[in-house]
Amino acid sequence: MKIVFFTTAHNSLSQRAFVELVDRGHTVIVVIASSEDVMLEAVEREHPDLIVAPMLKKVIPASIWQQHTCIIVHPGIKGDRGPSSLDWAILNACEEWGVTLLQAGAEMDAGDIWASRTFSMRGGSKSHLYRHEVTEAAIQGLLETIAKFESKTFVPEPLDYSRKDVKGCLQACMKQADRAIDWAEPSASILRKIRCADSFPGILDTVLGMQCYLYDAHEEDVLRGTPGQIIAKRDGAICRATGDGAIWITHLKQKGTDGQPSFKLPATHVLGDRLDHVQEAPLAVDQWCIGRTYREIWYEERHAVGYLHFDFYNGAMSTDQCQRLREAFLLIRRRPTKVIVLMGGTDFWSNGIHLNMIEATDDPAHESWRNIQAMNDLVRELITTESHLVISALQGTAGAGGVILALAADCVYARKGIVLHPHYKGMGNLYGSEYWTYLLPKRVGREKARELTEALLPISSRTAQQIGLLDDAFEEDAASFREHIRELAEELASSHRYEPMLEEKRQARKNDEERKPLQVYRNEELQRMWLNFFGADRSYHLARKNFVYKGLMPDRDRGDERGRTGGHVEFTAGHDAGWHYGRQPARDGYCGRASMTAEILDGRAMSAEMKAELRGEMRRFVEKQGQAPGLGIVRVGGDAASGVYSKTILRVAADVGITAHLEQLPVNTSADELRALLVQLNNDQAVHGILVQMPLPAHLSQKMVAATIASSKDIDGISSRSVGNLFLGLPSFLPSTAAAVMEILERTHMPLEGRRVVVISRSNVVGKPLGMMLLQKNATVTICHSYTTNLAALTRQADVLVAAAGRPRLVTDEMVKPGAVVIDVGINALPDGGIVGDVDFASVREVAGAITPVPGGVGPLTNVVLLKQCVQAAWQLAGEKKEWTSTACQISAYAGNDADHWHRMVATHTIVSASWEIAKPRFK
Ligand code: NAP
Repeated sequence: MKIVFFTTAHNSLSQRAFVELVDRGHTVIVVIASSEDVMLEAVEREHPDLIVAPMLKKVIPASIWQQHTCIIVHPGIKGDRGPSSLDWAILNACEEWGVTLLQAGAEMDAGDIWASRTFSMRGGSKSHLYRHEVTEAAIQGLLETIAKFESKTFVPEPLDYSRKDVKGCLQACMKQADRAIDWAEPSASILRKIRCADSFPGILDTVLGMQCYLYDAHEEDVLRGTPGQIIAKRDGAICRATGDGAIWITHLKQKGTDGQPSFKLPATHVLGDRLDHVQEAPLAVDQWCIGRTYREIWYEERHAVGYLHFDFYNGAMSTDQCQRLREAFLLIRRRPTKVIVLMGGTDFWSNGIHLNMIEATDDPAHESWRNIQAMNDLVRELITTESHLVISALQGTAGAGGVILALAADCVYARKGIVLHPHYKGMGNLYGSEYWTYLLPKRVGREKARELTEALLPISSRTAQQIGLLDDAFEEDAASFREHIRELAEELASSHRYEPMLEEKRQARKNDEERKPLQVYRNEELQRMWLNFFGADRSYHLARKNFVYKGLMPDRDRGDERGRTGGHVEFTAGHDAGWHYGRQPARDGYCGRASMTAEILDGRAMSAEMKAELRGEMRRFVEKQGQAPGLGIVRVGGDAASGVYSKTILRVAADVGITAHLEQLPVNTSADELRALLVQLNNDQAVHGILVQMPLPAHLSQKMVAATIASSKDIDGISSRSVGNLFLGLPSFLPSTAAAVMEILERTHMPLEGRRVVVISRSNVVGKPLGMMLLQKNATVTICHSYTTNLAALTRQADVLVAAAGRPRLVTDEMVKPGAVVIDVGINALPDGGIVGDVDFASVREVAGAITPVPGGVGPLTNVVLLKQCVQAAWQLAGEKKEWTSTACQISAYAGNDADHWHRMVATHTIVSASWEIAKPRFK
């Protein structure tokens, strides 16, 4: 079946539902349903068999639910209605709660019931219950609903409050006033209040004079103080006295002033020096303690097995946390045990580097670098442990570097039902480290590793086991999983296979190290990460900001990286996997993207830089050859645009020292006369490059020109020899506009390998040659043209988008992926005399990470690229097959002089002028 999810956020429940349904062969399209329009558009586009709303805060439009079956997953028992179901269930200390799957209708949560499940409530926060009991119940209910729907005979049960099993009622939306804390209350009551608001919206309270939302509370059985007083701090958390004891609070979010957004951070970080008077209450990882308390990392030991627990909030691991975990690991590795089990936390195993902590520093790039180094140091210790067998026991979800951390162990087991995200790229094209290039292919093979890291899709523990990422997955609930792990670990420690396994592991590591040292993997990965953190491409920084601020960025960031509008993200799996982005109104709940002001890629500055390099090259040439390279420009007739272009080239050539001359022929020049001139220039030893200006008068053929110009002097890459060489990946002269685009990407250190590049053009001067050059740089290239359907869906996938359609403002902000690099080749004259590109600069610069302006982008580089190729031709003709390394495409001209016909060859050059458009119809 084709199933569309309408969800407010692609959260743990919708991800789990997604992988379960995909595993069962359904095609699932996840739509972040930020508005009615988005939902209507998705239904019109996808024609789903069924619509499911795993977590939806918006109303589904009547026109949709009247025509399609829409199933709402409601986290409440039968008859419960309202947006705060779980909140009330926790606050009211209900002993039993449930999930109901009902059909969308005119009244919210009052539709016919397809399935329902109940479960016993236990302590824990709303998010914890949601990730475990609610998710399990919802998945069972959803699978039952789908089976009923497929049967086509099932009739759902109308909501009937007179029925005995309908125990719920309509409940109001819970307000901060309902949640307000009096610190003289008993701990149990305060815990319930904080937990029913965790992880959203949090309880608003005043802490040491600061207005904050409180998150993640834990019991404390020993420490005591005056109610409301902060009495201790540990591992980033604060301990606060209550009416009958104390509780720990690990995270706070400062209430933003003037409506400015903020984000969650460890409590001690938020309160800073307000806590100077508060004592640390350190607890060593292996220290036994009486009663309940809070700590992030702790150790227990039983029957030659050591268990290292690390329960980091949301699975994020800061530099400090990585370092502390590494120290703990080194400590327990010295214990006389045989097996070490890495337990992670109950909800999360690990999600890699700590984006919130990185964002909170003054220098996020530097902190990102420290954080990944600390992760790597930890992973290296696991990989190189020779004294123990190490087991990773994933009780909870893992993502990015967290998945790789698990793979550093010898055995990897997971609880059934967890979801894994074994990829990094979704975070602004982050390359990733943690030795993933060693660990991932070792487990799943090179091809699968590539597939996983490119697809950016969540996978179930079932799929992970099938592909070898996990050794096994068992037990639905965390307690049973822990028990099962204990049995396995103790069995391994006492097994006769233990010593041979340890020896085998040592030998395998030694062999691997000989084949390729770990340090080499690390260096290679970090080279790429360095570009992510410190390079010109800011995608990672923008994606991180967007993630941390949930799409709503503070005003202070808007000058540089604005956060005003949002977009929605969709993704699909099954038969048609891929990411799509759509539009979302400003400040509307979840945002899949943030807006920003893009970095302007200044073509004029790059052109000046290239000219300086070219002058140096010219000096070397003249010193060695005793004369300057010569350029012959041929212009037939009086076309205005080509006149402007000729003048520009003559000026720039004179500027860099190339001897250029213009052969101006009358408009009635015959084909034979033109051919004769070209042959003469071919044979002229003072001429090293030939450029024929387009458009030609109608009676003259571009094909003839392309066939006559000696390929050794074909500096604009129009001969079939040049084109063929480019196609074959051989050194060749290149069409200068396409080469100028590459030059920009190269000069801004834009990594292209593995990136998705979409080019709007298949013309012979831009789209086709550019596609070939990008392929040579290992980019994944999509060429679009006027017959391409759903252009926007393709362009939204582009990490780099090149527009060269010759259509004013064709590309709008909705068509651009946040943080993408946008290169605008188009030059379009407007009726009012202005010039615009193919990109709607004003709106797209709010979404893109980097963008070229028009004018001042590609144009100024094109003629310099052409002249550069002229100097290259001169070196070649002088017998020096000199390779240029500074350009995007290393060029070493082919020295032959025959030329084949190239059908539909449009030998155009850069026309950095509005008059290009006037010339174009004639030139076609
Ligand atoms: P062209 O030969 O007309 O090629 C345009 C390409 O864009 C074609 O492949 C066309 O598809 C495609 N296209 C047109 N409208 C489209 C649409 N709505 N959706 C998707 N694809 C579409 O033009 P060109 O000579 O390559 O020049 C393209 C632009 O670049 C012009 O604006 C020109 O002024 C500019 N230009 C700039 C420089 C510079 O130095 N900056 C140099 C040269 C050209 P079909 O193949 O299906 O027709």
